[in-house]
Amino acid sequence: MSPRVLVLGGTGEARRLATALVAAGVDVLSSLAGRVADPVLPPGEVRVGGFGGVEGLAEALGEVDAVVDATHPFAAAITRNAAAATAATGTPLLRLQRPGWSAGPGDDWRWVDSLEEAAGSVRDAASIFLTTGRQGLAAFAGLTGAVLVRSVDPPDPPLPPRTTVVLARGPFTVEEETALLREHAVEVLVTKDSGGAMTAAKLTAARDLGVPVVLVRRPPLPDGVPVVATVEKALDWLADTRQTWNP
Ligand code: NAP
Repeated sequence: MSPRVLVLGGTGEARRLATALVAAGVDVLSSLAGRVADPVLPPGEVRVGGFGGVEGLAEALGEVDAVVDATHPFAAAITRNAAAATAATGTPLLRLQRPGWSAGPGDDWRWVDSLEEAAGSVRDAASIFLTTGRQGLAAFAGLTGAVLVRSVDPPDPPLPPRTTVVLARGPFTVEEETALLREHAVEVLVTKDSGGAMTAAKLTAARDLGVPVVLVRRPPLPDGVPVVATVEKALDWLADTRQTWNP
């Protein structure tokens, strides 16, 4: 019987991994949280919605030979749950996580540890661009400056009183990002260290325009879980570990 790999998804890497596994004839189940109303679906079987914590996930692992946690670098709860559930069931687990961004010449970046700290660091700015995603915007609700929020689906309140929402899904070009920063006279950009090329153009646009960037650091990864940065490395790991999977 074809092995069954559970890919915890919601990212481009997860979709690319599922695509490669389906092409190789591996039985793949991709899991999405269900946060986005109209998600881009990977090939193969897809399930949507939470598992019900560590216990629910451990139960779902009964039909799974290996797990690749390819969720977003800031999806810390599901990453923690995956580590705990696979440890409980003895299921092999790999974390696939793209590298974070690092500043280059001309970048004016300030690193912070949380959305709350990010909000505190921009409280005096007149025009702020938030690309931290739809969740966690409550941390910025007290800002009194003009706030531009970009997200895939409309954000829920509470929002800062002077918020303009732009609904858009990346990738974005440097030209588009430059035009947006100019149009809204953005003084500071706030983002999470998501990494990857899909949403990096805003950082180039900010550097070109001399706009400072506040970056939220990634949450730590669980101990003892092997980590790779690319889909190719994840495929190598799956091939290497296959002999240890359930018979
Ligand atoms: P989270 O805070 O780590 O997870 C919260 C709960 O959502 C989990 O405990 C789990 O519920 C459920 N969940 C999360 N990811 C899931 C998945 N792939 N399949 C099934 N259930 C999942 O997650 P989040 O930050 O809200 O992110 C949710 C999804 O959006 C993830 O798939 C992630 O890859 C994607 N995403 C997140 C961000 C971000 O900035 N956080 C950005 C882009 C995409 P149960 O405990 O009930 O199992």
